[in-house]
Amino acid sequence: MTETYRLAEEHDELRAAVRALAKKEIAPHAADVDEHERYPTEAREALIKAGFNAVHIPETYGGQGADGIAANIVIEEVARVCASSSLIPSVNKLGTMNVVLGGSEELKKQVLGDVARGAMAAYALSEREAGSDPTAMRTRARFERDHWVLDGTKCWITNAGMSTWYTVMARELLR
Ligand SMILES: Cc1cc2nc3c(=O)[nH]c(=O)nc-3n(C[C@H](O)[C@H](O)[C@H](O)COP(=O)(O)OP(=O)(O)OC[C@H]3O[C@@H](n4cnc5c(N)ncnc54)[C@H](O)[C@@H]3O)c2cc1C
Repeated sequence: MTETYRLAEEHDELRAAVRALAKKEIAPHAADVDEHERYPTEAREALIKAGFNAVHIPETYGGQGADGIAANIVIEEVARVCASSSLIPSVNKLGTMNVVLGGSEELKKQVLGDVARGAMAAYALSEREAGSDPTAMRTRARFERDHWVLDGTKCWITNAGMSTWYTVMARELLR
């Protein structure tokens, strides 16, 4: 049977490298992370040290410049041993893709460089009354002089409190 689709060699090499790291550095702590409902700090440190915390960050900003398949391979292999820890690379991606796709050069340098070096990013859309239906969100943003003021409450934000950068969805209050 002819193979219709085959991952690139570098994807297979990446999978092997992340799998080895996950087995050695993340799996030994997974049960304790779950049992004590604690943050997987060991996984975070191991992923940052190996450069797997945010592989999607373009090389221009100090990242690996990896494609979407590679970013998903990292998430899959970490999740294989610890679902909680897989939220480090996955939410770093979710929380920075808007900057990668549409941020100013200044913002890209500030945020993407920081995340590539190990800072965390989070994605804040959900609200108590606006989960599946984000159009019901109540958070408002208004521009005052030279900065934005956010007014509202977000909940269930993965890596909240552990992150340096937050992508927050809000409705702009027009003057
Ligand atoms: C582990 C975890 C991590 C999360 N991390 C984040 C995060 O980092 N950032 C963030 O912004 N949010 C996060 N969330 C929130 C998540 O996005 C919301 O839970 C999700 O959008 C669903 O919203 P809800 O929980 O309010 O459920 P509801 O919207 O109240 O839905 C409840 C049920 O009703 C069903 N339902 C809803 N609307 C309809 C409809 N129109 N027709 C039929 N059925 C419907 C849903 O499928 C669901 O079964 C996280 C949630 C979890 C569980």
